[in-house]
Amino acid sequence: MSREFSHLEWPFFDDAHRDLALGLDQWCKDQNLSALDDADVYAACRDLVQRLGSGGWLRYCVPAGKDGELGGRHPQLDSRSLCLIRETLGRYHSLADFAFAMQGLGSGAISLGGTDALKNHYLLSIATGQRIPAFALSEPEAGSDVAALACTARVDGDHYVLNGHKTWISNGGLADFYCVFARTDANAGSRGISAFVVDADTPGLEIQERIEVMSPHPLALLRFDQCRVPAANMLGELNQGFKLAMRTLDVFRCSVAAAALGFARRALAEGLAHAGKRKMFGQVLSDFQLTQAAFGDIAAEIDQSALLTYRAAWVRDVAGRSSTSETAMAKMVSTESAQWVIDRVLQMFGGQGVVANAPIERLYRDIRALRIYEGATEVQKLIIARELLKG
Ligand SMILES: Cc1cc2nc3c(=O)[nH]c(=O)nc-3n(C[C@H](O)[C@H](O)[C@H](O)COP(=O)(O)OP(=O)(O)OC[C@H]3O[C@@H](n4cnc5c(N)ncnc54)[C@H](O)[C@@H]3O)c2cc1C
Repeated sequence: MSREFSHLEWPFFDDAHRDLALGLDQWCKDQNLSALDDADVYAACRDLVQRLGSGGWLRYCVPAGKDGELGGRHPQLDSRSLCLIRETLGRYHSLADFAFAMQGLGSGAISLGGTDALKNHYLLSIATGQRIPAFALSEPEAGSDVAALACTARVDGDHYVLNGHKTWISNGGLADFYCVFARTDANAGSRGISAFVVDADTPGLEIQERIEVMSPHPLALLRFDQCRVPAANMLGELNQGFKLAMRTLDVFRCSVAAAALGFARRALAEGLAHAGKRKMFGQVLSDFQLTQAAFGDIAAEIDQSALLTYRAAWVRDVAGRSSTSETAMAKMVSTESAQWVIDRVLQMFGGQGVVANAPIERLYRDIRALRIYEGATEVQKLIIARELLKG
């Protein structure tokens, strides 16, 4: 196994995982993903979802169903596969990673809490790339403190009527449907939230504003105004939506760590290539011990992130117990470390490092939001401490 893939030898994986990682790497090369035209991120994401669907990679985003009818590759979502895929895509292009991740996160509440009818209606089309989902939890006044969410769902016969806003919704304006978390009991805090699938063309659902961010991807503020959703579209039980949101995030949070790992590996590759050829003071940059020391630090940081990430995925898949603490550690360390690695490599590029859209400059922007979404670093620290203090 080459140095680039030596982590695949680790005992966290079986041979199917190794084949998956190597096969996807070759596919990314064949698709020339590094040179993706992403001037229009909405068009680029739609194209990527179709390509990932045709390639069979989206089958890892949903479960298989009893007789394989849901299209998934495994009976249950396999964290190690999700992580290997995100790490690999992240090495090639952040938007490819984003498009893949959102197929899983956006439909995760259906996979985990949907009725058979909802699963049958939506999940196969996620696995083939025919439909694009979104996960709509955050609100302007409820981000880290998500239990404070205010969007309401009022029962009206065999429908619920949604009113309120959802913000920072990835795939907003692109998605075919949204898994929306709304308040069904005004006085019950986190025990008064329910989840619903809302088709994008439902009257009363409006894309109020597209949000532009430093690493562009489809993102929007949604507005619900008397939006009527069939009661049959409820995901899980009444007032159990908060738990469902947390279970969904529990599965996918670990894969955020893997995406960060992919970005860091790409930065290292860019740094090695650059330092090996940049001439100065009669030698090349990599001949200097200061540069070599940086590479030593970077390599150890990357292995630390990889070990934590795949430990967490393995605990979830194999150990058969909660991986809350391991996942929080992986997410915290891998995203923070990738930011440091990318910054350190950017420094090696000198002025070239800050040229707009150079690979290392893109990575510098791409990594930033991963330290904030699906639980900011500070939130991960509190989760780890809470688990410790439980005894
Ligand atoms: C690019 C991007 C994509 C996103 N996609 C989605 C999506 O698809 N669906 C969705 O529902 N949401 C999405 N989000 C929202 C994301 O989950 C929230 O931004 C995140 O939960 C933080 O919430 P907030 O932005 O309201 O920040 P706040 O809750 O205001 O937190 C601000 C900061 O406070 C600090 N902090 C938080 N808690 C504590 C604490 N207990 N003690 C001390 N400091 C603390 C952290 O540093 C945090 O960054 C996305 C966000 C971004 C940036």
